[in-house]
Amino acid sequence: MSLVDDVAKQTLDAIRERGTHRRMRVLAGPQATRMEVDGRDCLLFAGSNYLDLAQHPEVTAAAAEAAEAHGCAAGGSRLITGNLDLHEALEAELAEFIGTEAALVFGTGYMANVGVIPALVGPGDVIVSDRLNHASIIDGARLSRARVEVIGHGDAGALEKVCSETRQAGRRVLLALDGVYSMDGHMPPLREMLSIAKHYDCMTLLDDAHGTGCLGRLGRGSGEHQDVLDLVDVHMGTLGKALGAFGAFVAGSALLRELLVNTARSFIFSCALSPPQVAAARAAVSLVRREPGRRVALQLRAKRLRDGLAAHGVSTAPSETQIVPVVIGDNASTMAVCEDLLERGFYAQGIRFPSVPEGTARLRITPMATHTDAEIDALTRALVEVLERRAPQVLGRTDDAGGVAGVSTAGRAHAGPPPSGV
Ligand code: PMP
Repeated sequence: MSLVDDVAKQTLDAIRERGTHRRMRVLAGPQATRMEVDGRDCLLFAGSNYLDLAQHPEVTAAAAEAAEAHGCAAGGSRLITGNLDLHEALEAELAEFIGTEAALVFGTGYMANVGVIPALVGPGDVIVSDRLNHASIIDGARLSRARVEVIGHGDAGALEKVCSETRQAGRRVLLALDGVYSMDGHMPPLREMLSIAKHYDCMTLLDDAHGTGCLGRLGRGSGEHQDVLDLVDVHMGTLGKALGAFGAFVAGSALLRELLVNTARSFIFSCALSPPQVAAARAAVSLVRREPGRRVALQLRAKRLRDGLAAHGVSTAPSETQIVPVVIGDNASTMAVCEDLLERGFYAQGIRFPSVPEGTARLRITPMATHTDAEIDALTRALVEVLERRAPQVLGRTDDAGGVAGVSTAGRAHAGPPPSGV
C-alpha cells in the first residue's frame, strides 16, 4: 500500500468509527422538485435551488446563448484575460439589486469569504465570529491570521464585551455573521448585533448565502428582512443557490471592490466565472427582481412544512426560513431516517458532525417555491411514519428543549477538525 493510501485508510477508518463517513449520491435529470437520486425517482427536499431557477427557460437560454456567443470559459483570471464586459454588467446589476455602490463576483461563496476576510483583517486585528458561522468564514478567519474571538450563538452580550475590549486596545475588528444559519434555518438578531458592532466602530460582514433571493421585499435577503442593510459593510451573497446559477458576490462600497481586486487572493489567483455562468446569474437576478411571488411561495411552503410537522409533535425549532431541520441526535438514526425516506421517494439529507455539532445530527429539509402543498403534505406524512419507527423520541417534542436550541451550547468546530457546511 502506498503511503498516500495508508494515510487515507487510517483517516477513513477513524471517520467510519465516528459514524460520519460520507459518500456522494448520484443525481440525474435537471435540478427540479423531482429528480432521480441513486437511480430512484424522488421528490427533492435537499437542495438550495430554492426558487427553482436553475432550469428556468430564461436562465438556461441565457447560458446557452452566452456559450454560443462567448464560449465556455473566461480564459483566465479577471486581472489578465478574464474580465469580460459580461462580468462588469453582472456586477453593476448585483450592486443595484443589493443597493450598494459596487459588487465583485467570486468563484463561489467559499472563495468570497476566504478572500474578503483576509483583505480586511490581519495579524494584530480581531475577527468576532458566531460559533455557528459557516465553515468558509471560519477558514477565512484562519487564513487572515487575525485573532478569532468566537462568541456564543447570537450572544449580543459577548459581542459587546469583545468589541469594547478590543477597540479600547486600538485593534481593528470585523464582525462576521451568517444571515441565515445553513443548518438551523434561523436568523441572528441582526439589528442588535450589527448596532453593537457599529457603536464600537467595527466592520461588519453578512454572509447571506441562504437569504439572497429568498427573504426581503425585494429579495435582498436577511438584511432587508430585518431592515438593517445600512449596518452591513460587506454583503456576501451566492449565485449558486436561490439564483440557480453558480458563483458568489461581495457587494459594498466602490473602495471595498477596489481593495478586493487588489488583495483578495481567491479573486486574483483564480479563473473568472465562465460566460454561461455569468449570463445565467444575470437572468436569475432579473427574475428574482421581477417575480417576488417566488420567495413568497417559498416561505409559505416552508411554513406549511413546519406547521404540519408541529401538528405531529415534531419540532423544527428554531427554523424561520426555507431551511427546516428536524434534530434527531445520533448519527445512525439520522441516516436511517434519511434512507427510509429515500425508499419512499423523498430526498432530505441527513446532516452529521462536522457540519453540525456532535449529538445534533439532523434531517435538513429544504422545500422549494414550486413544491405543491400536496407534495409538502406527502413528505410530512412519510417523515412522521419513518420517525415513529426509527426515532419515536422525536415525536411529541414541540418545545426547544431537545431541538436546535441545544446547538448553541454544543458549538460548532471553530477549533478541531475542519467543519463543512452544505
Ligand atoms: N456561506 C454559507 C452560510 C453557506 O451555507 C455556504 C454554502 N453552503 C457558503 C457560504 C459557501 O457558498 P458556496 O457554496 O457558493 O461556496
